[in-house]
Amino acid sequence: MAGDLSLRDEPCPVCDATTTHAVAIELRQECPDGDNSAYSREPYRVTECTVCGASRASRVRSA
Ligand SMILES: [Zn+2]
Repeated sequence: MAGDLSLRDEPCPVCDATTTHAVAIELRQECPDGDNSAYSREPYRVTECTVCGASRASRVRSA
């Protein structure tokens, strides 16, 4: 994995507290389900709680 990892304090809904998260940006291929989506790779911001291990990903909009 590309080493673009950083640590940030962010709220974790599982821990119900602000915890340290490992944050990475990765490119994910969108599933071409719809009619207008080509095989585009979208950047996602992936955060993983270092306490409980829960991870979330949210798409990064670079408009
Ligand atoms: Zn957590």
